Amino acid sequence: MQKLFINGHWCEGTDQKSFQSFNPATGEAIDSIAAGSIDDVEKAVQAAREAYHDWTVSNVTDRAEMLRQYLYRMREEKENLAELVTREVGKTVPESLAEIEDALNLVDYLVGEGKRYFGEVAPSTQKNRFAYTQRCAYGVAALLTPWNFPVSILIWKLAPALLCGNTTVVKPSSDSPLTAGALVQYGEDIFPEGVVNLVTGRGGAIGDRIVSHEWVDVISFTGSTEIGKKIRSCAGMKEVGLELGGKNPAVIMPSANIDGAVSDTVKGAFGVAGQRCTATSRVIVHQDIYDEFKVKLIAQTEQLKLGNGLDSETDMGPLIKKSQVESVDGYVNNAVNDGAELLCGGKRMPEVGACFYAPTVLDKVTKDMEVAQEEVFGPVLCLMKCSSLDDAIDIANDVRYGLSAAIYTAHLKEAFRATNELASGIVVVNNPPGAVETHLPFGGVKESGIGREGGIEGIDEFSRTKTVYIDY
Ligand code: NAP
Repeated sequence: MQKLFINGHWCEGTDQKSFQSFNPATGEAIDSIAAGSIDDVEKAVQAAREAYHDWTVSNVTDRAEMLRQYLYRMREEKENLAELVTREVGKTVPESLAEIEDALNLVDYLVGEGKRYFGEVAPSTQKNRFAYTQRCAYGVAALLTPWNFPVSILIWKLAPALLCGNTTVVKPSSDSPLTAGALVQYGEDIFPEGVVNLVTGRGGAIGDRIVSHEWVDVISFTGSTEIGKKIRSCAGMKEVGLELGGKNPAVIMPSANIDGAVSDTVKGAFGVAGQRCTATSRVIVHQDIYDEFKVKLIAQTEQLKLGNGLDSETDMGPLIKKSQVESVDGYVNNAVNDGAELLCGGKRMPEVGACFYAPTVLDKVTKDMEVAQEEVFGPVLCLMKCSSLDDAIDIANDVRYGLSAAIYTAHLKEAFRATNELASGIVVVNNPPGAVETHLPFGGVKESGIGREGGIEGIDEFSRTKTVYIDY
């Protein structure tokens, strides 16, 4: 059984309860995990608070060196970790390796940032006064993570939180607790006791207590918009970063390289079985190339091979759990009832394994339909027709989300209009919406979230400025 990690020790939960982790490709149980209670949350927060002073007054370059050791450890474990991720959440091994690479890149970047943890020197209005700002940690950071990128999202929070001198309580998704356990274990002999604490257990049972705890100073949450809103409403005056859902459009204009746009759309929509916040979920195609795009899209989608992510032949793995298969199927049925036309997929695939759903393309989707508005979080792509760039931008922006968006065009004018007018935190030209480079900020607008991860902006999430005046 995987235990909780509190104050440098692996321990059973106070209630001695546990839950199971399942492989979504096979349905087999992998291991049992301690289900932490409110008492365990208290202990973890207390450990983090007690460790805070010594950690935050330590030298930032020393903390960066510890991150460097952690980076080396993760690198050594890369292959094992990728296999664990694939068994626990179903994505293919190359997909697991890609997210581990993102995590390594971020830590590598942050190690260097430890030597550039600058404030600013400012002129003073007073004679004989020296004024400057310096960065300070917040205190105890609660890090709440989803299952779909169980390595990169946890590391994208943990590494900057630690660099800035915060101590942490990690609460991972109950669908990916083993990956979180492995990541915490890699650091157990690197970071001092109490600096990293892990409490596994159902968010519905312990999440509120973590978020509302008076000794938690900053909350970093990635997950659904629904839970993100709940967290914001009970976080009071704490600093909160929210990375939430998406409904990402890709606009295809007549001058685009159609073959390239088709294969990008298939990857963007069906990578990680569509369970990515930046998945391409609406492809908005100009009427002049619509039929050609549609025929090529269906041909490529139908070639995707579903299977266990450990099998090197597999293109698309399973959904995370049976309830997600039900939910996706519900969205598809509702779409067809609303007037959408099923071009391919639209069915469960029990013959492949436990939680599989066929890659699905829906035609004749209009922007008012539920399937065009809500995050399905599965392998379902809406094909939508536009008559002009204005029309495309109007359709693209007409959702409550705004995480990432793409346009395919050979015309600079169209590209710049789209980058200026698409309402999203990330815009990509001639590539799918899901671009990530770790030294650049990542995050959304509207109901896709508040704040940014990655880059200097990701350091800002875990540090604030203190202003110092020295009269001499
Ligand atoms: P989720 O259901 O919202 O859960 C996210 C985390 O919140 C889990 O650790 C969950 O724990 C916990 N939680 C549940 N109820 C809570 C509560 N009342 N208080 C505090 N924490 C609580 O999301 P998910 O299904 O894991 O992930 C999919 C969602 O994440 C999608 O909407 C996706 O778009 C979004 N996402 C966004 C980004 C981004 O960067 N914008 C990246 C990846 C994913 P339990 O698992 O124990 O319930």
